[in-house]
Amino acid sequence: MGSLWAPHSYFCVPKPRGIELVKIQLDSAQPRPIFMPSNQLSAMRKPSLTSAVPIERIDVASYTIPTDFPEADGTLEWDKTTLVLVHVTAGGMRGVGYTYADTATARLIADTLAKVITGKDAMSISAAWGAMVRRIRNLGRPGICSMAISAVDAALWDLKAKLLGLPLVTLLGQVRESIPVYGSGGFTSYSISQMQKQLAGWVGAGIVRVKMKVGSQPWEDANRVRAARQAIGSAAELFVDANGAYGRKQALAMAEIFSESDVTWFEEPVSSDDLEGLRLLRDRAPAGMEIAAGEYGYDLPYFRRMLEAGAVDVLQADATRCGGITGFLQVAALCAARGLPLSAHTAPSLHLHPGCALAPARNIEYFHDHVRIEQMFFEGAIAPKDGQLRPDLSRPGLGLDLKVADAERFAA
Ligand SMILES: [Mg+2]
Repeated sequence: MGSLWAPHSYFCVPKPRGIELVKIQLDSAQPRPIFMPSNQLSAMRKPSLTSAVPIERIDVASYTIPTDFPEADGTLEWDKTTLVLVHVTAGGMRGVGYTYADTATARLIADTLAKVITGKDAMSISAAWGAMVRRIRNLGRPGICSMAISAVDAALWDLKAKLLGLPLVTLLGQVRESIPVYGSGGFTSYSISQMQKQLAGWVGAGIVRVKMKVGSQPWEDANRVRAARQAIGSAAELFVDANGAYGRKQALAMAEIFSESDVTWFEEPVSSDDLEGLRLLRDRAPAGMEIAAGEYGYDLPYFRRMLEAGAVDVLQADATRCGGITGFLQVAALCAARGLPLSAHTAPSLHLHPGCALAPARNIEYFHDHVRIEQMFFEGAIAPKDGQLRPDLSRPGLGLDLKVADAERFAA
């Protein structure tokens, strides 16, 4: 693709699908391209590409949403989920980001992080991110602090893309038009028939990879996994997730049993803190069965240690935990350095754009609980087609707008 050059101070760029070409008069010697979605052209405040865009305000809210049925995995049970939502305003635009966390996360953003980033340049996300990380040094990086930073960081990326009039995937640099999802649910709190119906429903809808939970009643797992395979047929891929419920030798035995049902992905067979145990499983699991972990990674050294231990075939990371889009980009670089695939853990609407912009990204977890919440809360939440999520390039940023009235019912 070659750039077109108009006379003198106008800079033109080729037109991506769904986006109109805009000519921007530049006041600097160094031209930079900018796109604006057609539906926002009239409202566009002409941005200055050479000066800072100070962050004006941060709004945060939390919502607690009951599950549609009690949910459980190998090591936890829950009947509600809390979404912490952040809006960051600058230059007449508002970016949205979120994390699935505790209400304490919202409190930390409102009381501490908001002050850190107010007045900072919305175009310099790394600087704002670094300032947040420095501020929470004495509070502890993993957990609440990292989830708070993640939500703010996602809002900053959404905001920057909107200020530039670009879909986030275009700002990041698109490498694929769409990304596969895998249906994720099959909770251990479900009856066998309930689990079969959910998994088969996804396969029937074209989502040919599905994941079920195991580990809370290990003596039932062989039977449940066989029942799952029966329900989805022989062509679909079957993943299992033990959430660290098994011991090492137990997990090895289960891997052999699951392999009889053609399980190709064994997630957290042992605790993610047992890197030697994960490595043992990785080395000794039946051929064709990948070991996956990484969802509790809150900072880059966590992922580095996991990769250095040779613990996984597929590294998982969650942008709502690992430092937002910024942290997710960093994890993708670690994967690229090792030649390993990256799988996005849950929050499909947040992972769609980075998932289509990062070469190591293999798939996105289409997690039942979050899918339900994101469809309820966001205008612009994409549904998969033929098992793939494809970003809507006519919408700037993450392409998500809060459905305020629908969300308010769940205000925490
Ligand atoms: Mg998991």
